[in-house]
Amino acid sequence: MLILVTNDDGIQADGIKALAEALGELGEVVVVAPAVEQSGSSHAITMHAPLLPREVAPGWWSVNGTPSDCVYVGIHSVLKRKPDLLVSGINRGPNLGDDVTYSGTVAAAMEGTMQGVKSLAVSLNSYNPQGYAHAARVALHVARRIADFELPPRTLLNLNIPVEVGCDPVKIRITRQGRRNYSQNVVERLDPRGRKYVWLGGDPQGHEYVDGGDIEAVSEGCVSLTPLQLDLTAYGLMDNLKRLEGEID
Ligand code: MN
Repeated sequence: MLILVTNDDGIQADGIKALAEALGELGEVVVVAPAVEQSGSSHAITMHAPLLPREVAPGWWSVNGTPSDCVYVGIHSVLKRKPDLLVSGINRGPNLGDDVTYSGTVAAAMEGTMQGVKSLAVSLNSYNPQGYAHAARVALHVARRIADFELPPRTLLNLNIPVEVGCDPVKIRITRQGRRNYSQNVVERLDPRGRKYVWLGGDPQGHEYVDGGDIEAVSEGCVSLTPLQLDLTAYGLMDNLKRLEGEID
């Protein structure tokens, strides 16, 4: 089994090391990851600058681009064939609810899906590096269980792992995407040359309750596994919008 591993925290991050090491039990692991941190880069792709893949250790490639660049370069330039599985992570911090729309970790899995590869995003619901060993074991368990599982086209899996294990032994709950609220803060200051700069807050500030949601599962100490799809169509709105169809006058 050939496994492509990437992340958005950069190739030096503790999470990707723990993940690659754990997945080595399943097959051959090739890492293609951003040279520097790309958290919050979502599904950005570099189209107007060259990408420079560098093999920094055997099987470990750094790319001066985004997580999605790494998946693209990994499949089409480094491996030159489709891996059996793509795993992105382990992210430093959760990717729950609306986080997935910002997340480079999840977007790398989206890119894998678009390239026709079974893809899994993995995040640790903590900023404590001691959680990665536990999260890597959970990721390996899930990767092993989905190895023979046919994911429908244009779908991916989003795995979030709490560091404090509330359910003992570890329980996985299949969840839906929840709803996260973010702070609206901006910090405005002056730089050394007297120009105003703005630093975005945007920290998570609680959530709306969603029955069966990913945030609810993790806050109860369970591992959350959410199936996501690339199709963002709001099907429920289509009938209502039909009245806009037709000639433009
Ligand atoms: Mn990140």
